[in-house]
Amino acid sequence: MHYSGFKIFAQGLTGNKRWKANWRQPEPKDSYDIVIVGGGGHGLATAYYLAKEFSINNVAVVEKGWIGSGNVGRNTTIIRSNYMLPGNEPFYELSMKLWEGFEQDLNYNAMVSQRGILNLYHNDAQRDGFIRRGNAMQLAGADAILMGREEVKEMYPFFDFQSSRFPIRGGLWQKRGGTVRHDAVAWGYARKADELGVDILQNCEVTGLRLEDGVCKGIETSKGTIMAKNVAVCVAGSSGRVMSMAGLRVPIESHILQAFVSEGLKPVLSGVVTFGAGHFYVSQSDKGGLVFGGDIDGYNSYAQRGNLPAVEDVCEGGMAIMPMIGRARILRMWGGTVDMSMDGSPFIDKTDIQGLYFNGGWCYGGFKATPASGWCYAHLLATGRPHEVATEFRLDRFRHGHMIDEKGVGAQPNLH
Ligand SMILES: Cc1cc2nc3c(=O)[nH]c(=O)nc-3n(C[C@H](O)[C@H](O)[C@H](O)COP(=O)(O)OP(=O)(O)OC[C@H]3O[C@@H](n4cnc5c(N)ncnc54)[C@H](O)[C@@H]3O)c2cc1C
Repeated sequence: MHYSGFKIFAQGLTGNKRWKANWRQPEPKDSYDIVIVGGGGHGLATAYYLAKEFSINNVAVVEKGWIGSGNVGRNTTIIRSNYMLPGNEPFYELSMKLWEGFEQDLNYNAMVSQRGILNLYHNDAQRDGFIRRGNAMQLAGADAILMGREEVKEMYPFFDFQSSRFPIRGGLWQKRGGTVRHDAVAWGYARKADELGVDILQNCEVTGLRLEDGVCKGIETSKGTIMAKNVAVCVAGSSGRVMSMAGLRVPIESHILQAFVSEGLKPVLSGVVTFGAGHFYVSQSDKGGLVFGGDIDGYNSYAQRGNLPAVEDVCEGGMAIMPMIGRARILRMWGGTVDMSMDGSPFIDKTDIQGLYFNGGWCYGGFKATPASGWCYAHLLATGRPHEVATEFRLDRFRHGHMIDEKGVGAQPNLH
């Protein structure tokens, strides 16, 4: 069903009774060409691009819960491509370009809003670092503007420029960054993948990987065995658990990341803003709530709920740049399990087990990567070769010393 303004009008006149379900509820087949484990944003995007770009549609996406129940429906919705390193920047810029055409491509309103992202800096060294990053971004075809204090003040006069411990000196602005309604991304990809013939199997937990003579031949699930020529794991915070079913240990720790939404306020923040002297990021949703977050909780966990010390830390970050936030009440908060890799960068790679592929390690930033991750994973699965912007996301990069350490903090999942 093609969505359009006319369709909304016509459906309105007939009591909205003729909308079709966004995707089918099929029973699993005995076998598929490709089984994707995990129906989050990345898994669904992979299925969509496999069918659309490579005409491979004998594909199942196997999800233990419901579509959108994982991090794709829990994140703070920020998209950007303001990276510095060669292994990262072209990949995230491809993602940004795919976001720009996302709604037309999928015929789905995901409220893609390029309202801009401003990374604040608070001292000269940080400004110089941002100049370097801005230049690297421009070399990769992205947009970047360095702002001084007065320009930031014009944009956000209510920020604390004087009395705080870390006075704001300026910021690096990426105008094309912004936000996207996160669960609509999952629904949009699911709807189109289904339309192209992909089976989306919800409430179907993968309990084992079927290995025969060192080759991955399928999966064991709560709905029975499903055979597959290739199995593509894509389970975000559950990466360690699922890969251990094949006896593999991935360089990933699972941590909790929390998100917060305040009560609805009148429009105050036009774009996304990040604090440079601590970890805090904030935007305002179309309903008026301030949507914000910060650091991961400081311990490993698979629970999808967070702890109070991280709440305090996040709120301190908010108070440091905009003290008026202290008067807003928090309406909702939740947690998601994120897959923190050792250098903060992701993996899209084959494993040493034939027929078993891995996509994970997205840490804080996998939502903005969703379209490019799906595209590049589909490319790898269909052609056997990494996509040209994802050649560095290898599982063996630590063995070879080729870490993609964007922040230069070393192998410290809790620091990046
Ligand atoms: C609070 C929070 C805020 C964030 N903010 C941002 C942000 O602003 N910008 C940004 O770019 N990124 C952000 N992220 C990160 C981003 O959300 C994730 O990196 C990204 O969503 C992960 O990919 P995914 O969508 O495929 O994951 P998920 O949606 O988590 O998908 C993985 C799926 O695998 C399923 N699964 C797990 N185990 C099994 C199994 N055994 N069998 C079958 N299915 C299984 C899960 O149920 C889940 O649905 C944030 C994350 C959190 C938690």
